[in-house]
Amino acid sequence: MAMYNSLTGGWTVSGGYFECRSCGTRTVSERFLAVCPNCGGSVRNIAVARE
Ligand SMILES: [Zn+2]
Repeated sequence: MAMYNSLTGGWTVSGGYFECRSCGTRTVSERFLAVCPNCGGSVRNIAVARE
């Protein structure tokens, strides 16, 4: 049973979208991301881009 589906409807505190400051790669991670998986640069946690 997917007991956590209701929780993933929103965004967790530490996860979400991360954007690389160097190459601009955006990564979606459930966990906090410290570095860009593409180039190893620093990333920032960007806000939920609701459209
Ligand atoms: Zn990068």
